[in-house]
Amino acid sequence: MSNQSIGLPDELHEYLLSVSLREPDVMQRLRAETAEYPNSKMQIAPEQGQFLQFLVRLIGARRTLEIGVFTGYSALAVAQELPETGTLVACDVSEDYTQVARRYWADAGVADRIDLRIAPAEETLSTLLEDGQAGTFDFSFIDADKETYDTHYEQSLELLRPGGVIALDNMFRGGRVTDSDVEDESVRAIQRLNEKLHDDERVDLSMLPLADGVTLAMKR
Ligand code: CA
Repeated sequence: MSNQSIGLPDELHEYLLSVSLREPDVMQRLRAETAEYPNSKMQIAPEQGQFLQFLVRLIGARRTLEIGVFTGYSALAVAQELPETGTLVACDVSEDYTQVARRYWADAGVADRIDLRIAPAEETLSTLLEDGQAGTFDFSFIDADKETYDTHYEQSLELLRPGGVIALDNMFRGGRVTDSDVEDESVRAIQRLNEKLHDDERVDLSMLPLADGVTLAMKR
């Protein structure tokens, strides 16, 4: 039911969950409901949600961005770690899936911290930049259309303060990134971005073989 880490044997994955996952009831319920939807693979793995929570707490994030909300699991994870005055600007284009998200955010008592913007993320992030919010965010989670990752990365980098962290999901694209002849444009876009990030001196970099590959980029 989860999107488990590529290459990790089932038995070891189950062990990992059994000794490390501390998933609150509201998140368990959201994950169970999402599993019934046709695009349920778009939900992050629970250990990945817990990792994002750990990261947000570690850097003391107060102002955060999420690009690609789906049914709201990762936003729910992050929002619960923010101080009461914290903000998560959540970008998505789907009214339907984010209606599910809103129910669980309300259940968890974090709806007032989440500013959901239904529009292409590129437009929402441009608006934030035009409003003079460059350098004011601590964290950005990028998990929407792969062809636009690079744009969202550049916009997030501008919106983050130095020391702020960008986390990018699906950087393995189900393992297809190793195929140099691949024709799928979404895979090619991620291949190009992985190569760009490797040489990008504006950030410190760490790529984790967690779930479908998570890259962390910390703004210098
Ligand atoms: Ca994803």
